[in-house]
Amino acid sequence: MNCVGCQYLLWDLPENRCPECGDPFDVTDYAFGRDSVQFLCDRCGQTYEGGDSLGLPNPRRFECVGCGHMLDVAKMRVRPITEDAFGEPLNYGTPWANRHQVGLVRAFLDSVARLAIQPGEYFRLSSPTQNHGALLFSVLCAYMATVTLLAGIELLQRAGVVNTSVSFFEPKVLFIILTAVPFIQLVWNHLYGFFIHVILWSLGLQSCDFERSVRAVAFGNAVLPALLILPPIGLLWYIGVVSSGVEHFNATTRSRALLATLIPVLLLVNLALGGVFVVLYT
Ligand SMILES: [Zn+2]
Ligand SMILES: [Zn+2]
Repeated sequence: MNCVGCQYLLWDLPENRCPECGDPFDVTDYAFGRDSVQFLCDRCGQTYEGGDSLGLPNPRRFECVGCGHMLDVAKMRVRPITEDAFGEPLNYGTPWANRHQVGLVRAFLDSVARLAIQPGEYFRLSSPTQNHGALLFSVLCAYMATVTLLAGIELLQRAGVVNTSVSFFEPKVLFIILTAVPFIQLVWNHLYGFFIHVILWSLGLQSCDFERSVRAVAFGNAVLPALLILPPIGLLWYIGVVSSGVEHFNATTRSRALLATLIPVLLLVNLALGGVFVVLYT
C-alpha cells in the first residue's frame, strides 16, 4: 500500500495522510490481497477482516463492535498481517495529470467534462502536492471560453440583434485578444487564489498553501464558458468547482472552502454594482 504521489509505504498510520509528502488518501482507494491485512478501530483497537472482492470490510460504514464508535472504512488504520501483504491503488490520478499517456486533446476534454459534472470525484483523484499543469489547463479553458463568446457575439451581430463597431474576427483584433487571454488568466488565478488563501488563513487554517488555492482556481476554469454565457448559473457552478478544489487541495472542510471561495466573489460583485451605481447617478 504505497502513496500514489511518492511511493511511501502507508501501513499502520494514525491518520490518512502520507507522512512523507502530505497527500491525503482513502483506504478505499486500494484493493487488498485476501486475508493479508487487518483494519483497526482507532479508538479501541478492535480488528476487522476485509471480506469483499476488494479485500475491504463490507459495509463501508459500520458501528465498532468493541466501542460503538461509527467507523468509516476509508479512514481506518490498515495493518499488514502477512509478509506478502499489498494494497493495489485503484485510482491513478486525473486524465489531465496523465495527459502525456492519454493525449492532450482527450485528456483536456475528459477533464473539463469531469470537473464540470463531478468536481469532488475529480479532485479526489488529484494529488494535492503536485502541480499537474494547472495553469496550462486554465489558459486552454480561457481560450475555449473566449472563442465561444466571440462566436456568440458574431452570431448575434449577423442576426442583427446587436451592433458593435468592431469585428472580433478581424486579424488585428483577434491577435490582441488571443495575446491578452493567457495574461489575464494568470493574473486572475493568482489574484483570486490570493484572496482565498488570505480568508482560509484568517479562518484559522495556518497550514494552507497559496499555490494550492491558485491551482483550485485554475481548475475551476473548466466551467468558464458557462460563466460567460449564463452568468448567474455559471457563477454558482464556478464557485462550486473552485471550492471543491480548495477543499481537497487544502484538506479543509466544505464550509470553510465555500466561505473562502464565496467572499471574494461577493466583494467583487458588490464593487461592480457600486461602479454601475456611480456611473449611473453622477
Ligand atoms: Zn506520499
Ligand atoms: Zn472501536
